[in-house]
Amino acid sequence: MNTILGLHHITAIAGDAQRNYDFYTKTLGFRLVKKTVNFDDPQTYHFYYGNEVGSPGTILTFFPWANVRQGKNGAGMATDIGYSIPKGSLDFWKARFESLNISFNLNERFGEKQLSFQDPDGLWLTIIETINKDGRNGLESAEIKSEVAIKGFHTVTLTLNNIKATAEILTEVFGYKQIAQEGNLYRYKTDAVENAALVDLLEMPQAQRGLNAGGTNHHVAFRVKDEEDLMSMREKIMARGLHITEKINRDYFFSLYFREPGGILFEIATDNPGFATDETVENLGGSLQLPDQYKAMRAKIEKALPKLKM
Ligand code: ZN
Repeated sequence: MNTILGLHHITAIAGDAQRNYDFYTKTLGFRLVKKTVNFDDPQTYHFYYGNEVGSPGTILTFFPWANVRQGKNGAGMATDIGYSIPKGSLDFWKARFESLNISFNLNERFGEKQLSFQDPDGLWLTIIETINKDGRNGLESAEIKSEVAIKGFHTVTLTLNNIKATAEILTEVFGYKQIAQEGNLYRYKTDAVENAALVDLLEMPQAQRGLNAGGTNHHVAFRVKDEEDLMSMREKIMARGLHITEKINRDYFFSLYFREPGGILFEIATDNPGFATDETVENLGGSLQLPDQYKAMRAKIEKALPKLKM
C-alpha cells in the first residue's frame, strides 16, 4: 500500500480539563478512550476522545492547561475540524445546541449541509451531513441515539496564505487529488479510504499567522498502516528537502512529525498498536495510563494532575 489512509487524529490545546471532558463526552457524546499524560510534560493530561474503540479517523486529542492563554486562528494552522453526522440529523443538533445555549452557524459547503460551533475554549468544530456514504457507527448515549451520533472525521480545514506548496504535499506525497473548489476553498480527497478522506485548503493571502494556544489546533496527524509505511513516507518527505523527526513511540501509535511548507505541523501515525494495549476495549479511558518512563512516578503525577469527575 505505502500510502496515507486519511486522517488519524487531530490534537488541540484546551484550558480547564473538567470543562473539556464534560463538553466532549456529554455535549458531543464522544468516548474518552485514553486518559494519559503529555509525554513531554507529565504534569499535564493528554485526553484522547473517539468512537467506542478509538478508531483512527475519529480521534481528537487535547492537552488541557488550566491557565493557558487564548490562542487565535490564522494562517499556518488547522482552523476547523469537520465531523460527519448522519443525513437528517442536523435538526437534532440544532435543537440540542439551542437548548444548551451554544451558538452556531448553519451553512452549506460543497453541497453538504453543516453546522459550525466552538467548544468552551473557542476551538472551531463543524458537523456535516455528508453526501458520501459513511458506514461508521456513531457512539450512542442516553441523550444521543445512534441515528444522530457523530461518526468521526469528515475533513479538516487548513488556512494558508498560499495553498500551492501544501497542496503539493497532499497530492505528490500523500496521494490526494483536488476534487472541488468553492471560491478560495479547495477540497482534496484520497481514494485510499472511505471516511476521514478529505482535507480542505482555505487560501487567505492577507491572513495573519495564527497564535497556537488555548482553543486552537496544535497538529494534524495523517494515518498509515504500519511502521514500514511510516518509514517509507519519511523517505519521501526527506527527499523533498523537508526536515522530519525520527520515529517516536507514542505508546498507542508510532509517529513522525514535520512542518509542511505552509507552516502547519503534520504528523504521520500508524494504526498499530492502537488504544487497547494497556487496558481492554471495555475499560478504555477508565483510569490514568502512564508510559513506562513515568510509571515509577505515578503517585507524584496523580497528585499534580487536576482531579477529574467522570
Ligand atoms: Zn499527534
